[in-house]
Amino acid sequence: MDPSHFEHRVKALEAFGHRGSASAHEHRAAQYLAGELRQLGVEPTIKDFLGARSLAARLFVHVLVAALGAALLWRMPLVTVICAVGALVSLVVEQTKCVVWLSWPVCQYRSHNVWACIPPVREARRRILLCAHYDTQHSGVVWTINRYLMPLANRSPLLLKPPMLPVVGLMSVQILLGVLRLVPGPSLPITPLNIALLLAYVALSLLFVQWALGRPVPGAADNASGVAAVLELAERWLRNPPTDDVELIVLLPGCEESGMLGAAAWADRHRQDLATLPTAFLNIDAVGFGPPRFLGTEVPVAGLPIRSDAKIIGLSAQAATEAGLIDAGPHTLPGPTDGLAFLARRIPGITIVGFRDGGVLPNYHTFADTSANMDFAAARAGVDFAELVCRKLALMEN
Ligand SMILES: [Zn+2]
Repeated sequence: MDPSHFEHRVKALEAFGHRGSASAHEHRAAQYLAGELRQLGVEPTIKDFLGARSLAARLFVHVLVAALGAALLWRMPLVTVICAVGALVSLVVEQTKCVVWLSWPVCQYRSHNVWACIPPVREARRRILLCAHYDTQHSGVVWTINRYLMPLANRSPLLLKPPMLPVVGLMSVQILLGVLRLVPGPSLPITPLNIALLLAYVALSLLFVQWALGRPVPGAADNASGVAAVLELAERWLRNPPTDDVELIVLLPGCEESGMLGAAAWADRHRQDLATLPTAFLNIDAVGFGPPRFLGTEVPVAGLPIRSDAKIIGLSAQAATEAGLIDAGPHTLPGPTDGLAFLARRIPGITIVGFRDGGVLPNYHTFADTSANMDFAAARAGVDFAELVCRKLALMEN
């Protein structure tokens, strides 16, 4: 691979300053990426969809609805229960299925998916969906807290990994308090508990508002590195396709950082095409943070984790052995990637990430996520590993 080309693309994406989800910067980056695909000789499509500018705003809507309900516990406990159940169900469904329910008022911003199809010479027998999001996350105090909680989350059992588990817990407590108030039963100190609940919601709201208002980060490792990797793989595929009967889709979605909305929009829009040909996704996210690894399970922000297909996990493990990688996976990170949007839609596949030992993502979602701080050697190893996995996916039997 031409290392200067890879670095050039990472730096070009970084040069937009940020690529905040559904922002004008994100739109400009989409145009640049379409140009890069055109230079490879494939015709890109830029397709818009309604996205969100921030995950924080989407989470805040849920907390707000629950908090309004909690404030009514003394007078209208039924409303308290309804608000908490509504917020909880919507939060979990939105975050596990990558859809929009209660947060629709803050999901009305135009964003873009950039994608292209590289058809095979013969009739297609299968399809590979090669994916990397190009938008960037908002900065916020939440990421400083995350840095300290990450080691704990990494060691937690799978069901305790979703980062918004405390919010799920608060809403569950609220439902319980409302029910206790509705039915005569054991006398619990409902008033102090409800005040504590309201205070917790206020603290969460402050955290989410500060995060929503934070400037988006430059995102060199997360995820200019993944985008450059995908373009590099597309280039290699065009030069030397692993087989002549596999279609390659290159998909660069927006709005991953605000809840995988770009990948979900693409998959929903192409549901019929996806049903006609066996498809596997290969998602590349943040390979510039450290040595390449792969995710065996995608963990939503709230809700139940989804496991990847066992056959594809096996094939990825085999590729890792062939590449001589140490501790490549299957791993589980306490948070999702675009892979979740595909797995939730029953599209099998795998996500390749990069992190240091112990699940450390240096400069994750901070202004220090620049090309100067990026691990280019690790990113290059990530590209080579992804190519190996891609070839194995192409040669997989239907
Ligand atoms: Zn990110």
